[in-house]
Amino acid sequence: MKITSIKTFIVPPRWCFLKIETDEGVVGWGEPVIEGKAATVATAVDELSDYLIGKDPAFIEDHWNVMYRGGFYRGGPILMSAIAGIDQALWDIKGKVMGQPIHALLGGACRTSMKTYSWVGGDRPADVANAVRERIAQGFDSVKLNGAQELQIVDSHKKIDEIVETISTVRDAAPDVNIGVDFHGRVHKPMVKTLVKALEPFNLMFIEEPVLSENFEAIRDIASNTHTPIALGERLYSRWDFKNILASGYVDIIQPDLSHAGGITECRKIASMAEAYDIALAPHCPLGPIALAACLHVDAVSYNAFIQEQSVGIHYNAGADLLDYITNKEVFDVEDGMMKLPQGPGLGVDVDEEFVKKMAETGHNWKNPVWRHKDGSVAEW
Ligand SMILES: [Mg+2]
Repeated sequence: MKITSIKTFIVPPRWCFLKIETDEGVVGWGEPVIEGKAATVATAVDELSDYLIGKDPAFIEDHWNVMYRGGFYRGGPILMSAIAGIDQALWDIKGKVMGQPIHALLGGACRTSMKTYSWVGGDRPADVANAVRERIAQGFDSVKLNGAQELQIVDSHKKIDEIVETISTVRDAAPDVNIGVDFHGRVHKPMVKTLVKALEPFNLMFIEEPVLSENFEAIRDIASNTHTPIALGERLYSRWDFKNILASGYVDIIQPDLSHAGGITECRKIASMAEAYDIALAPHCPLGPIALAACLHVDAVSYNAFIQEQSVGIHYNAGADLLDYITNKEVFDVEDGMMKLPQGPGLGVDVDEEFVKKMAETGHNWKNPVWRHKDGSVAEW
């Protein structure tokens, strides 16, 4: 079998899909994207295609090594997202050729379903609390919310009080729910210790990116001052980015993104490395159906996977939801806060190609907002 073409489709709300075709008619789908740089990643896919066209898609490990090692320069969000999408599509092809779901080819699932959490939004504490109650009514026992808006490197304590008020209102409304709080790297070292201390009484499931993961020395300070689990990893792209963090012992949960960190091949290895340090896995996935399916296959075979992010119906996706792009929508049904593992061959999602093509005519040029502090300096989004 030979790869005959690799096409990308830039589709709303902010995604990029990829289709690999072969001379035997088997096709594979992938999702190579970094949010805000979709066209750049598509160009990187195009550059990698020069090597892949004409090759046998079966040799995933070798193709991965050529894409990673063969170009001299390596790593980073653009290249690793391009490799990720191609890798997912190669696994999709392999599964379809073998008539097996990818998790079966990775050794077989070690669980029957995967716990998932839902995002909750809302600007005021009461709105957030109501949104959490709605999620509980839908069967979720775990939620995640944004923890902070703009915070300058040293900001007013009032902003910490506001964050605490929101979390406290949610905790009162839902005493038994597991709460993850994502700080998006918006907090800086001088204020983070006070913030984390103030959140301790709420027994959070985790705090995510309490500071940016590149400010790792600050993570060390947080870890030695709190019992709240620390999660990070959506902005790390390979085993080499994760290795010092895993070995440090300061992080409790890692969140590699299956569309940013080299795909199924690489994230499976990152998950295994984490397992050897007793660190949990919670793959990052605010993306589309191909990325989510890829996550579930890695979750299926990773003993340390404990919860899966997903974006069904979240605020980012207005007008083009994850389920709109596939015909077997039931594959992502959530029951009692759990998703079943995909059982169809390959990724197990049936991509609606006509819909993908139609949406690619519109495309998108999604960029995250640029926030500024009161003094005019740019803020972390
Ligand atoms: Mg996050």
